[in-house]
Amino acid sequence: MPFNTIFEPFRIHSVEPLKLTTPIERRQALAAAEFNLFSLRSRDVIIDLLTDSGTGAMSRDQWAAIQHGDESYAGSPSWEMFRDAVQNLFPFKHVIPTHQGRAAEKILFSVFGGAGNFIPNNTHFDTTRANIEFTGAVATDLVIDEGLDPQNLHPFKGNLDPIKLEAFITKHGRENVPLIMLTVTNNSGGGQPVSMANMREIREISLRHGIPLYLDACRFAENAWFIREREVEFADWDVADIIREMAALADGMTMSAKKDPLGNIGGWLAMNDDDLAERCRTMLVLTEGFPTYGGLAGRDLEALAVGLTEAVSHDYLRYRIRSTAYLGESLAASGIPVVQPIGGHAVYLDARALLPHLSPLQYPGQSLAIALYEAGGIRGCEIGTVMFGRQPDGTEVAAAMDLVRLAIPRRTYTQSHIDYVIEVCQQVADRSGALPGYRITREPKALRHFTSAFEPIS
Ligand SMILES: *Cc1c(COP(=O)(O)O)cnc(C)c1O
Repeated sequence: MPFNTIFEPFRIHSVEPLKLTTPIERRQALAAAEFNLFSLRSRDVIIDLLTDSGTGAMSRDQWAAIQHGDESYAGSPSWEMFRDAVQNLFPFKHVIPTHQGRAAEKILFSVFGGAGNFIPNNTHFDTTRANIEFTGAVATDLVIDEGLDPQNLHPFKGNLDPIKLEAFITKHGRENVPLIMLTVTNNSGGGQPVSMANMREIREISLRHGIPLYLDACRFAENAWFIREREVEFADWDVADIIREMAALADGMTMSAKKDPLGNIGGWLAMNDDDLAERCRTMLVLTEGFPTYGGLAGRDLEALAVGLTEAVSHDYLRYRIRSTAYLGESLAASGIPVVQPIGGHAVYLDARALLPHLSPLQYPGQSLAIALYEAGGIRGCEIGTVMFGRQPDGTEVAAAMDLVRLAIPRRTYTQSHIDYVIEVCQQVADRSGALPGYRITREPKALRHFTSAFEPIS
């Protein structure tokens, strides 16, 4: 459309009321949650940007499809709808449905993981890393250096560094690198895309060494839209064709259908290798369910089949990427440091830069996330030293970056909601020098950001 207004390509059909809490109520809620935003009751949150995972609005057609769900234990037509929709975009021979992305990871790494193995990625997502480390294998991030610099304007900051990858394979030995993962878009690195040129380079390395390449493809549609916008070769391509081109470069994939497939739940594992699929299906039956439903109900499979067709609509993707950029650009224009360029599903505030008076081990990201909730009831997510600082050997180190992610649920909030978020962020940034550091008073063995307790350092 030849207008500048960000046009939501839908109108609202069913509304969910939001409760407007007061600062006093929010301070009480924070204390009760021991300053862990994952422990808040969602009804005490006004704008919930904790994650874009499973929080999107389903369409009228998805809700209608739910009524078509066939709950037969084996061979349901809902399974066929789902499988065909997946293979239309990702033509892998075997599609293995799971209840969400981490279940696909758990199965994949029960085959590919194990002590003595080393698994590279541009940046491992937290559940991916945890599932790899749980098997005793080592998860290593090899994103390009530009991807670690929050202000670098490289158009594909999610790229996996081919030189680092070659060195990694040489160092550990090809036989100890069972798999190369590539996360599109690079969620933990700022929602930054991976270029097709990079995927081709990584594919060449994978073929030359005989190491399979798997996509962690949660945000495949957003990644494909960035390729269309930023890689000249693809400027006229249909997004669905770009996605098929991406899939053709890989041996398999893991997926969280709670992201770009526009579902509230779901995931899958897909691959071409028959023997591997057989082993994975055996694990699936142990932990998820029969191979034609995995961890899902027939109705979920139906909703995802429809979601996959909506996710590749150009009108939808243009709106999606533009509205995320609008939030990021507005914050940047008011002097708030954000990861540049703006990613696909989220805006990442650079808490380390905004709170220079705090050292990384005082968790500037946690401090900023808490302040945004207290000031305006906005729930973001620390992506930094709380999430990544604890090493497998028990020591604690600063993460590469200390960010607060404001993830945008798909088709859920309007532009006035986003304008409110901008206002709250500006207010907090104006007094950022007064925000306290935090310490952890209790933490679990793994994935500590979900359940740790915190207290402010006075
Ligand atoms: C969400 C996500 C996962 C895990 O998926 P779940 O459905 O949350 O289990 C894995 N990788 C990436 C990149 C993700 O964003």
